Amino acid sequence: MSPRIVIVGGGPGGYEAALVAAKAGASVTLIERHGLGGNAVLTDVVPSKTVIATAELLTIAERAPELGVRRADGGPLADDLTVDMGAVNARVRALVSRQSEDIAARLERDGVRVVAGAARLASPSRVVVDDAGETLAFDADAILLAVGARPRIVPGCEPDGERVLTWTQLYDLEELPEHLVVVGSGVTGAEFAGAYRLLGSAVTLVASRDRVLSREDPDASEHLTEVFRRRGMTLVGGRAARVERVGDGVEVTLEDGTVVAGSHCLMAVGSVPNTSDLGLEEAGVEVDERGLIRVDRVSRTTARGVYAAGDCTGVLPLASVAATQGRIAMAHVLGDAVTPLDLSLVASNVFTAPEIASVGASEAELEERGLFYRVSRLDLAGNPRAKMLGIDEGFVKIFGHTVTGQVFGAVVVGPRASEHIYPLSLAVAHHLTVDDVAAAFTVYPSLSGTVSEAARRLHFMDR
Ligand SMILES: Cc1cc2nc3c(=O)[nH]c(=O)nc-3n(C[C@H](O)[C@H](O)[C@H](O)COP(=O)(O)OP(=O)(O)OC[C@H]3O[C@@H](n4cnc5c(N)ncnc54)[C@H](O)[C@@H]3O)c2cc1C
Repeated sequence: MSPRIVIVGGGPGGYEAALVAAKAGASVTLIERHGLGGNAVLTDVVPSKTVIATAELLTIAERAPELGVRRADGGPLADDLTVDMGAVNARVRALVSRQSEDIAARLERDGVRVVAGAARLASPSRVVVDDAGETLAFDADAILLAVGARPRIVPGCEPDGERVLTWTQLYDLEELPEHLVVVGSGVTGAEFAGAYRLLGSAVTLVASRDRVLSREDPDASEHLTEVFRRRGMTLVGGRAARVERVGDGVEVTLEDGTVVAGSHCLMAVGSVPNTSDLGLEEAGVEVDERGLIRVDRVSRTTARGVYAAGDCTGVLPLASVAATQGRIAMAHVLGDAVTPLDLSLVASNVFTAPEIASVGASEAELEERGLFYRVSRLDLAGNPRAKMLGIDEGFVKIFGHTVTGQVFGAVVVGPRASEHIYPLSLAVAHHLTVDDVAAAFTVYPSLSGTVSEAARRLHFMDR
């Protein structure tokens, strides 16, 4: 008999695992209470990156005059552009539905049984779903929990869905906010602050740390802070203590008493896992003090036969990591070759303009680990393709071992940095050296020429 696998949660942690397990011949049931694709598709990755696509287009318009593109009356193109937020958000909603439907169709085609409803564990081998007064039970040889997370709500700063919003509530806006106050300067806060400023809102970003994106490479976050300021964003240091509706607007009171006024407020202060009411304790699945499910590198929880993946584990809140954890869990269950999760290989991106992409070890980690390394940093401004495209900002930074030249990590800042990091991600994953990277041909002229040149320069630095 084929193994019975029950998956709770239809986000990337859940649906990718379902597809892998079904392909391997398991009998797979996936239970989802909201919509297929999970928050990744419905409220987080897909909608935010779709809005950001419109914002990115406006950065191209910023460069248009330099490239000789003007309005028919001779004025600069960017001055004449305005964003129809209703249309942008209608596009977001349509794209989200399509993506969710595509996932549903794929699951169906691959033979995954999808059940709508909220599930909980009855035991480490049984999942139940309450359905209109009836309880459906699903027995399993293995269970994967991929229940994700939701926006953290700070007491005193509760969203009202109209003017005080979480990121899940932005897509109902018909009008561009006149003045958006963004609380939180991590990835989510920075991405939305940057995008809404480009779309045309006045933006004030409230940062509780000393810099925007404090966990990213210091040169990258410093550069982005400068770009935000240049585009007219106001940056304020502090933590929000209270957010109130005042007339047609909002007032955000910081812990030091400073009041920041705006038309809307976006709270982007992190997430909390959806792990309460799941029957975890009774089934022997341990969580930490924040409610995150404890897992090892092959996604096992503390209960035999129960695995967990994605944001509910707090390992690294990225869709790619959630999907990898889910796939690893299935490989482990089904006796396939298992490669434990290695976070030192993860590539990630901040979708601001410019984007900030990173892979492997950061400079701070290399210093902490006491490794011998050299840094090669090269600005994109010197790249011939960048000059042709009117790109005058951004850089490539590579960290290589002092003696062997092994690529430890890299940071790329620039338009579509998320695409340019891939060769460096391959290098980190396969322990390539800077010479290996430099030896591969790049197209001339291309932005990736700077990746290769930055690697080549490490060859000639003192080893
Ligand atoms: C604004 C924003 C932008 C982001 N952008 C990116 C990005 O560009 N790239 C990237 O890699 N990551 C990004 N992330 C992170 C990414 O969204 C998450 O890491 C990813 O969604 C995690 O996937 P998951 O499967 O763990 O959970 P989710 O995608 O949250 O899915 C969990 C699913 O479980 C369901 N569920 C919960 N409880 C139950 C239950 N009891 N019964 C049945 N179903 C249940 C939920 O309804 C949900 O559909 C972003 C996050 C945010 C907030």
